[in-house]
Amino acid sequence: MEENIFSRNRIINDLSLTNKWDVIIVGGGATGLGVALDSVTRGYKTLLLEQVDYAKGTSSRSTKLVHGGVRYLAQGNIDLVKEALHERGLLEQNAPHLVKNQSFVIPNYRWWEGIYYTIGLKAYDFLAGKLSLGKSTHINKTKTVERLSTLRQKGLYGGVVYKDGQFDDSRLAINLAQTAIEKGATLLNHFKVTDLIQNPSGKIIGVEAQDVETNKPYSFSSDLVINATGVFSDEILKMQKSDARKSIVPSQGVHLVFDKSFLPGDDAIMIPKTDDGRVLFAVPWHDKVLVGTTDTNLDDHSLEPQAQEQEIEFILKTFNNYLDKPVKRSDVRSIFAGLRPLAAPKDNSEKTKEISRSHKIIVSESGLLTITGGKWTTYRRMAQDTINKAIALKKLPKKACQTSNLSIHGAMPTHDRENHLYIYGTDQKGIAALIAADASLGQKLHSRLPFCKAEIVWAVRNEMARTVEDVLARRVRALFLDAEAAKEMTAEVATLIAEELNKDEAWKQNQIEAFTKLANHYCISNSAVSI
Ligand SMILES: Cc1cc2nc3c(=O)[nH]c(=O)nc-3n(C[C@H](O)[C@H](O)[C@H](O)COP(=O)(O)OP(=O)(O)OC[C@H]3O[C@@H](n4cnc5c(N)ncnc54)[C@H](O)[C@@H]3O)c2cc1C
Repeated sequence: MEENIFSRNRIINDLSLTNKWDVIIVGGGATGLGVALDSVTRGYKTLLLEQVDYAKGTSSRSTKLVHGGVRYLAQGNIDLVKEALHERGLLEQNAPHLVKNQSFVIPNYRWWEGIYYTIGLKAYDFLAGKLSLGKSTHINKTKTVERLSTLRQKGLYGGVVYKDGQFDDSRLAINLAQTAIEKGATLLNHFKVTDLIQNPSGKIIGVEAQDVETNKPYSFSSDLVINATGVFSDEILKMQKSDARKSIVPSQGVHLVFDKSFLPGDDAIMIPKTDDGRVLFAVPWHDKVLVGTTDTNLDDHSLEPQAQEQEIEFILKTFNNYLDKPVKRSDVRSIFAGLRPLAAPKDNSEKTKEISRSHKIIVSESGLLTITGGKWTTYRRMAQDTINKAIALKKLPKKACQTSNLSIHGAMPTHDRENHLYIYGTDQKGIAALIAADASLGQKLHSRLPFCKAEIVWAVRNEMARTVEDVLARRVRALFLDAEAAKEMTAEVATLIAEELNKDEAWKQNQIEAFTKLANHYCISNSAVSI
């Protein structure tokens, strides 16, 4: 196979061309990828290492909203909302193939809610300024039911409609990684940072890392290492100072995925105040409905957080409060949990809902920069602030940020979202060319999901996918949309990847086993079992 710009061999072979990096980033989620792109487009020599895969952590497990956060507005956090609404507008402009203008309806079951939410959402529109996605309006009961045909009608007064953004989180991560590579950065997935290198006075001068596929160790030098590892931040902080203060409180959010028949139509539902006082969304996503989320404080974190039984029950019960046709456990197609890397409060008495959702940059004495908190929507601004901080600390020569109007890989105006390949933007042409060359690649992989064989080949050749999980979880979203279907696709997908990567039968069997075990935890019947 011809080596292209995204080939792992090419990237690994080129590592030796650079003796010292201007910036090394640890972690390939939204935050790290944003920093890599910001850094390389300012002209710095940039290396990013991700231990598993781009968006393996929280960044593939979000509610898929590009939003200002209506809830933070209610809490009076105007600056945070304004910043996020600005970023929402930029992301829609820079990645229009991935970000969709989504209408949300807040159903009103109390007489005063119509006025209350209309006023609040007018303020939301106002804060978005010229990047507003459309005006909020009040609608009567008939119109509300026309838009949300499965909504509980008893006691309904009407609804308030507002606009926000909706996206595909891991696809954006992959496209960000591709953009950074195209701009000249070096990015590697399945490459773990195992230690930080410090000089005798304790200053960081590089990282030790390991290619997870070959176990080969590497050392990379740089005076600037940026820790962008989300809920894993404290592990990196401890590498440079074993008694570093806890910086992260993980808060778990669970989502359940159902067939679209439970919420037909184009509108999402937003429930501003559930029984536990948080927001619940039911959002159309890739021809399914995503419902969530919860907010459960955890002491521990892992790469595969598990939904707790009470979280599943809470979502089912709350969603059913708003439906005429109730959902059952057996209707759940996939269940996934993610961990919010919330910045730890100084005062331990703060609850997660009150803990700051804005981002925070920690500068350690060793020179390590840690960027935590924030949200997907604000990844670009977080990156800009991080590199600006490094410049202010004189770790980098001053250069202006370039990302406000930077197109992300695949960007093209997208109006027709009927064909599921729209998500690839300009890369749709590449997938079509694969099918034109070999018609068998046009075959679908499962009757319940739209994905075809060409997408698997494309993911391996051009999107740095290395495993069945990389493909089925984060290139095509089968695991998150229908976990049983994803399991049923495993063998065929493993065969396609093995052919592309020249892997043997043992590798294939290993992959099938590992992915089936993982996917079991996304199936409702296995949800309470720990991984
Ligand atoms: C339930 C939930 C719903 C959310 N919904 C939304 C939403 O709708 N909209 C929104 O804007 N935001 C949302 N967010 C927030 C958003 O998803 C997160 O803020 C964002 O994804 C965090 O990205 P990150 O890069 O900081 O962390 P992560 O995505 O977790 O990335 C950290 C990465 O570091 C890697 N790593 C760790 N240790 C090492 C090491 N030693 N070497 C190399 N790599 C390492 C990990 O493998 C991981 O991939 C939501 C969050 C949650 C939990």
